[in-house]
Amino acid sequence: MRVLIVEDDPMIGRNLALALKEAGLIADWVQDGIQGLEAAKTGHYAVVLLDLGLPRKSGIDVLKSMRSSGIDTPLLIITARDGIDDRVEGLDLGADDYLIKPFSFKELLARIRAILRRQGGGAASLVGNGEITLNLASHEATYRGKTLALSAKEFALLHTLVAHPGTIYSRSQIEEHIYGWGEEVESNVVDVIIHYLRRKFDSEIIRNVRGIGWMVVK
Ligand code: CA
Repeated sequence: MRVLIVEDDPMIGRNLALALKEAGLIADWVQDGIQGLEAAKTGHYAVVLLDLGLPRKSGIDVLKSMRSSGIDTPLLIITARDGIDDRVEGLDLGADDYLIKPFSFKELLARIRAILRRQGGGAASLVGNGEITLNLASHEATYRGKTLALSAKEFALLHTLVAHPGTIYSRSQIEEHIYGWGEEVESNVVDVIIHYLRRKFDSEIIRNVRGIGWMVVK
C-alpha cells in the first residue's frame, strides 16, 4: 500500500515516512500543499496523511480541491492540538479521520487500518475478491486455504490487483503502486514478484492478459 504524507515539519515527516516503511507500507512525503495536491491527484495512494498548517496551500484548501476534483482517496488529518474549527471543517469537507499531534505511531497505524476497513466495508482488517483475502494488519494473504505472510512489495502488488478485481493493470501501473519516489525501479520486478506469488500460492492466483497486463478474477 502506498501512503502520501503531506507535512512541512521535517522531523515529523521524516519519522513518519521511516515508520510507515518499517510497517511495510510504501511512503511518499511532500512538504507543501501544492505538491501534496499534485501527488494526491495521481491517484496512486491508498491513504493520504494531511497536515493542516502547510506552506503554499493550506491543508483545508488541499482537501477542498481534492474532493471537488473527484479524488476520494481516504484521508487522515494530522494536526496540532489547537484548531478545533479546522478539524471540524476538515471532517465536513470529507476527511475520514484526524489525529492530534503528538500521536503514537501505533495509533496512527490503527487509524489507517480502520479507514481502509471502513472503505472496504468489512468488519476486520480484511480486503478480498472472494478468492483472495488480504489482512491489512498482518500483511498476510489467504488463497485457496493457504495463508502466508508477504513482503511489502508482494503485498502491495496483490493489494493493487485485489482492490479492483477484473481490472487489468499494466506493468507501469503496477510499478506506480509498489514503488515510492526515489526508489529505483528494478527491471522485471513485476514479473519477479508475480513469479514468487504464484510459487507461494498457485499459478492461477494472478492471471496474465497477454500483451496488456495482469489481473485477479472478479
Ligand atoms: Ca505544519
